Amino acid sequence: METKQFKAESKRLMDMMINSIYTHKEIFLRELISNASDAMDKIYYKALTDDALRFDKDDYYIKISADQENRILKISDTGMGMTKEELDDNLGVIAKSGSLAFKKENEIKDGYDIIGQFGVGFYSAFMVADTVSVISKAFGSDEAYKWESNGVEGYTIEPCEKEGTGTEIILKIKENTEDEKFDDYLEEYRLKSIIKKYSDFIRYPIKMDIYEK
Ligand code: ADP
Ligand code: MG
Repeated sequence: METKQFKAESKRLMDMMINSIYTHKEIFLRELISNASDAMDKIYYKALTDDALRFDKDDYYIKISADQENRILKISDTGMGMTKEELDDNLGVIAKSGSLAFKKENEIKDGYDIIGQFGVGFYSAFMVADTVSVISKAFGSDEAYKWESNGVEGYTIEPCEKEGTGTEIILKIKENTEDEKFDDYLEEYRLKSIIKKYSDFIRYPIKMDIYEK
């Protein structure tokens, strides 16, 4: 008798995930906001056990900005950020959750604030975006990196510039189709209602900046 490991075709798995596990495309925003919140909670937890680290509440917030002309939606946070290796591990491996690992390492009990666990939420961004770029500077590092993908052909990672610790998720929003008005995801009213519906419980302020056409 032989025991074998299941293998997965990651391109197809990715396609399946992007197009079938979520019923509503709008939930991408919930996923990105919860990741941003998790990233800031991680600094909060670090500060609990590290006397040298102060957690000043005013420094932690999520910012959503939309540029309608260029179809760019950005979700940024001032959280833990990711190193080059973490970008590769956490965003390059489907169903790998850095947040679940963090909870285990720090013995954080379930039901606590950190939301992430399945390691798939991030990819929901590809339901509404042709290209997703992630610019991140990890806590304690002075190097920033950019991860970029169109969700099909793999991804690239390269050094880049970024002020301050944290992460910026940049979505190039898809063009409208017959079935879906992607333009909506660049509208203040629509964004606010999605946030109210799914992210009302988030403990960090969510600021918004809309550049209208
Ligand atoms: P989950 O949140 O269930 O862990 P995701 O697919 O949403 O899975 O995200 C995968 C991992 O990528 C996270 O666990 C986290 O380690 C990392 N990550 C995603 N977004 C951010 C962010 N804004 N800041 C820091 N790390 C992030
Ligand atoms: Mg998540």
